[in-house]
Amino acid sequence: MNQARVPRAEAVIDLGAIRHNVALLSGKAAESGAATMAVVKGDGYGHGALPVAKAALAGGATWLGGCSLDEALALRRAGITARILSWLDIDVDFGPGIEADIDLTASSRRELARIVAAARVTGRAARVHLKIDTGLCRNGCPEYEWPGLCADAADAASFGAIDVVAIWSHFACADELGHSSIAAQAKRFDEAYEVAREAGLHPLRHLANSAATLTRPEFHFDLVRTGIAMYGCNPVPTDDDLVPAMTFRSAVALVKRVKAGESVSYGQIWTAERDTTLALVPVGYADGVPRTLSGRMDVWLDGQRRPVVGRVCMDQIVVDCGDHEPAIGAEVELFGTGHDGAPTAREWADTIGTIDYEIITGMYRPRVTRRYVGEVTP
Ligand SMILES: *Cc1c(COP(=O)(O)O)cnc(C)c1O
Repeated sequence: MNQARVPRAEAVIDLGAIRHNVALLSGKAAESGAATMAVVKGDGYGHGALPVAKAALAGGATWLGGCSLDEALALRRAGITARILSWLDIDVDFGPGIEADIDLTASSRRELARIVAAARVTGRAARVHLKIDTGLCRNGCPEYEWPGLCADAADAASFGAIDVVAIWSHFACADELGHSSIAAQAKRFDEAYEVAREAGLHPLRHLANSAATLTRPEFHFDLVRTGIAMYGCNPVPTDDDLVPAMTFRSAVALVKRVKAGESVSYGQIWTAERDTTLALVPVGYADGVPRTLSGRMDVWLDGQRRPVVGRVCMDQIVVDCGDHEPAIGAEVELFGTGHDGAPTAREWADTIGTIDYEIITGMYRPRVTRRYVGEVTP
């Protein structure tokens, strides 16, 4: 008997898959002469920012991207020496970021002024990426303020307070092939670049997310910022060999036989049509199984897909096994690589009308343990 304790909810992260995916993506970027930034915000899209960062660097990424300065500093403190860009904070003190050699984003003149002030206090030049809003209307500098931002940046650079590393922007619809906004944003990006050049700046450029990295080499510029694809989820219909890195699994806790006519779980939304065997699996919406998947999901158990019946509860789901009797402790795969037609995070997302980003990132929760597999030499 295997005496190892079976975890009730476990995200198995295949670092080899991340390394493989990054090698594929950075290979495409390199064909355009671009470097690759591995985006590890949201604790590495739920996979764990630090192990993902190491695997991505082993796979050929040379930059890391985190949303907040805190995320960037955590990687630095953990010994990561690669370039790290951070892009969104509320009036943070940029000093520690400058001291830790983090590349910082300025989305406004106000933000740049704060970076410059922090650089003066620190006595070191801050590395700055100027972000232009080309149509996403989220963060990024509005066009009307851009000439001023570039002028301020050129001025601060002239007295050594900052290095202007790059200008950058972000696509709204790169995952919708041929969407008219893609060309429109690229055009605004070109115009923003001209303004920066006229201000005397010689910045690098970066614009592409995963979707644009896979489908629009003309927008690779100097650096691509890949997120979702390096976790093995393809945002566009290409046949690139991306391998989902996260497998969400649990195990059978209880098996019982019920008679035809018995109903399962809250609300009794499912009733057995014939005598059947039910397997109880101790994961639920507290572990990242959306309740909206009730009656609309399968798991992989003992070599085949089997339906989850009745409502998804906070801590439990019930699988209809027909006349098959699984062993207590038998592995239950909720989603993973999609081997043999097994469920994927994408399938969950499609079923409930969201994106796989939300599914995998949502696995970052206290009750789900993470286990890393796949050899990665840092
Ligand atoms: C999240 C993010 C990315 C990565 O996007 P994917 O679609 O996951 O590749 C790139 N750039 C910025 C600014 C982001 O916020």
